[in-house]
Amino acid sequence: MKELLLDVEKAMENHELVPYYQPQYDALTNRLVSAEALIRWIKPDSSIVPPVEFIPELEKSEAILAVDWYMLKEVCLFLNKQKEDGIPQVPIAVNFSRMHMIYEDDFAGKLCEIVDTYQVEHKWIEVEITESAFVEESSGIEKLVGSIRKEGFCVAIDDFGSGVSNLSFVKDVDVDTLKIDKALISRNCEDEKERIVLESIFNFAHRLKLTTVTEGVETREQLGFLRTCGCKKIQGFLFARPMPEQDFINACKTQTQLSEMEDILLVQAPSSATQLLLDAIFTKYPLVIFSNLTRNSYYMMAYDSFSSTSCPSTGVFEELIAHGASTMHPDDQEAFRTTFSIANQMAAYQKGEKSVRLITRQMGDDGIYRRVETTNFFVKNPSVDDVLVISLCDNLD
Ligand code: C2E
Ligand code: MG
Ligand code: MG
Repeated sequence: MKELLLDVEKAMENHELVPYYQPQYDALTNRLVSAEALIRWIKPDSSIVPPVEFIPELEKSEAILAVDWYMLKEVCLFLNKQKEDGIPQVPIAVNFSRMHMIYEDDFAGKLCEIVDTYQVEHKWIEVEITESAFVEESSGIEKLVGSIRKEGFCVAIDDFGSGVSNLSFVKDVDVDTLKIDKALISRNCEDEKERIVLESIFNFAHRLKLTTVTEGVETREQLGFLRTCGCKKIQGFLFARPMPEQDFINACKTQTQLSEMEDILLVQAPSSATQLLLDAIFTKYPLVIFSNLTRNSYYMMAYDSFSSTSCPSTGVFEELIAHGASTMHPDDQEAFRTTFSIANQMAAYQKGEKSVRLITRQMGDDGIYRRVETTNFFVKNPSVDDVLVISLCDNLD
């Protein structure tokens, strides 16, 4: 151990430790959009030692701290040079061991100090912290991540799904990126259970507005499946291996622009087509509510810019109607309650009507009443007999 430490110190002095860069590609356009810096030890005889042969050992002590900061400096130097040479730049992710969480109190301060010394804009650096740090060091990590992001750096959870599963950190800690570990994907992604697990991970990650990156993508089959999940970025040997600086510069020159691209409509995942459709719908209807009249429940989708929904996004339908009525002009409340009562909507449905519609005056955040048109469309789900309704709410004023 002692010997290794001395060797590593010398290696840093002699610049035998170098970052290799592995590009990350947009899953739909195949464009190079970011990269990860991965350490390599290039011995004087030109042999290359991979990180597995020394990083785990260094991680047993504080020695890893110096190595990570060294890597950050090397990456900053590179970014700085790249800028001066006018080469297209992409954000670069740097790995930080969980030991930083244990041994350092002012991580964000030190990060800024180094990055600013090299005059690199913070948006070009992403901090990668392995999932195990979130699980084991969870106490202070929320604050730590907050302090890093406050300075304008992005934060990624690395190796998601590779270790102990304790998902509470995902909801407690606000990060930018979730890196899905290669352990979760098999060669062809053909196992049904594996697909269900992956689909669910992407689903929750995207609902939490996280950027998703899958690591270790080696086959076209994996890529195909990940696209249907809406995975945002791909990092893997299928596209590129970690490479020395000069090769990465060449990749930045040739792969960061959109070339003759495939038609986005033909390669996009169903989920992104649905997203486009939703965006179009939301421009007219900022609030969309799915209700199950048979079960007295609802599920609400509000556009990002839609201001006042004090209701939870799912709940009891009758409570939603009561709440909705309470925000309306007193003269409209009765009509609203009656028109949209479960009994009356069921009756309309039984009579074969396609929709129910009502205009009411609704109080905005500014205390002013505006006319809102609510149209409820009856829809069918082939697997159940429940009476389902989609409500589209349109601001008329
Ligand atoms: P990581 O951060 O999860 O990095 C991704 C690893 O997956 C890299 O291994 C990369 O070469 C490998 N990989 C990427 N695509 C594929 C693929 O398609 N197939 C396969 N089989 N592997 C793929 P690498 O470079 O050997 O690094 C291993 C680990 O060492 C890293 O895992 C990271 O935990 C650690 N590491 C690397 N550089 C640093 C560093 O500067 N600081 C710290 N603390 N850890 C580092
Ligand atoms: Mg990493
Ligand atoms: Mg990883």
